[in-house]
Amino acid sequence: MKPYVEMTVEELNQELDDLKKEYKKVQAMDMQLNMGRGIPCIDQLDLSMGMMDVLDSSSDLTCEDGTDCRNYGQLTGIQEARELLGDMMENNPKDIIIYGNSSLNVMFDTISRVWTHGVMGSTPWCKLPEVKFLCPVPGYDRHFAITQYFGIKMIPVPMTPTGPDMDIVEKLVSEDDTIKGIWCVPKYSNPSGISYSDETVRRFARLKPAAPDFRIFWDNAYGMHHLYDDHQDYLIEILAECKRAGNPDLVYKFASTSKITFPGSGIAAVATSPNNMVDFVNTLKFQTIGHDKVNQLRHVRFFGDIHGMVEHMRKHAAIIRPKFEMVEETLAKNLNGLDIGTWTSPRGGYFILFDSLPGCAKEIVALMKKAGVIMTPAGATWPYGKDPNDSNIRIAPTYPTLTELKTAMETFTLCVRIASAKKILAEKAAK
Ligand code: PMP
Repeated sequence: MKPYVEMTVEELNQELDDLKKEYKKVQAMDMQLNMGRGIPCIDQLDLSMGMMDVLDSSSDLTCEDGTDCRNYGQLTGIQEARELLGDMMENNPKDIIIYGNSSLNVMFDTISRVWTHGVMGSTPWCKLPEVKFLCPVPGYDRHFAITQYFGIKMIPVPMTPTGPDMDIVEKLVSEDDTIKGIWCVPKYSNPSGISYSDETVRRFARLKPAAPDFRIFWDNAYGMHHLYDDHQDYLIEILAECKRAGNPDLVYKFASTSKITFPGSGIAAVATSPNNMVDFVNTLKFQTIGHDKVNQLRHVRFFGDIHGMVEHMRKHAAIIRPKFEMVEETLAKNLNGLDIGTWTSPRGGYFILFDSLPGCAKEIVALMKKAGVIMTPAGATWPYGKDPNDSNIRIAPTYPTLTELKTAMETFTLCVRIASAKKILAEKAAK
């Protein structure tokens, strides 16, 4: 097939007629599939059922240092959980605080804290006339939702294949002291799946923000989530790099075991400098007497150590790798040569990013919905839900079965072709 733009109006009309007939057949299948969020499938959840067996009524719930996990105490987490999460996050256990069941919750709380209490003694952000955040786009909708909730003005910064455009980040951050933070998903990013290059991480660590209370919100949600054993992305560890650069307090790093064990029932953690740690603990001690230590112990006993976790992640990869490959194969089979879309080929994480022709994403997602497949809403990958090009679509392949995913992706490419043919026909008519 030749590119759609090179087709005559007659050829395109014929193509559109054929595609519409195909679409009617798909609608008659009465599919009901939700691919809206990137969540693990049932087989993945089953991998962690052993966690239910490591503790029972006869278990000794005493930690190595003698802490009784059944009682109050250990505000920053039990030592063995700090060690496990320390290995997972590549940070020293002493720089880690173990939180509750959600890292997103910790990110919200962190902004809430600086909103009312500032950063290391700075003016609380709520007292400032304007607070701005840089938002690499496409990015994670729930990050943007948090900053929107606090009325923080979000400034989009384009992503490149090596991470956010650092020329823009450096310029904006050094010139404007109302810019107080940036959202980052540095590894197997949500939604593009790309990982930041060494140069990007080094430039982050060497930022010279005009605002002394500027912080990088480094959400390493997918640090362990490789698809391939022999093709992994490696990231320079940001805390160590900031320290080397003489900027030790620049970053708050977040992670959780949500997509390692059970989303919503895992453990979350922050890694940061000793100075920042004081801020975190000063709030934490008013928020709680301590988090769920039994769950921390359950995780530690289930994995044993980081090697247990690495082995566990290999099992996740074995389940979801064929799904990622299926998405890419179907996109290539049905769209190659038509010049109506591009997509990423991540080596890990939970998403593939599809870029349609400008102005087509909303229509593609709407066509999918009418065919029975819910996708992440078009625009969700941008602050305020507004993608100015209307072209980003986040594909979340993990939850459906392979068979469902095959049908969904055949339908997706059909919808992409319909929306693109219509757009090009409209453009030709307007000439
Ligand atoms: N950060 C990113 C980048 C995510 O994709 C997700 C889950 N979709 C989260 C955070 C949520 O993590 P948690 O369950 O720990 O709140």
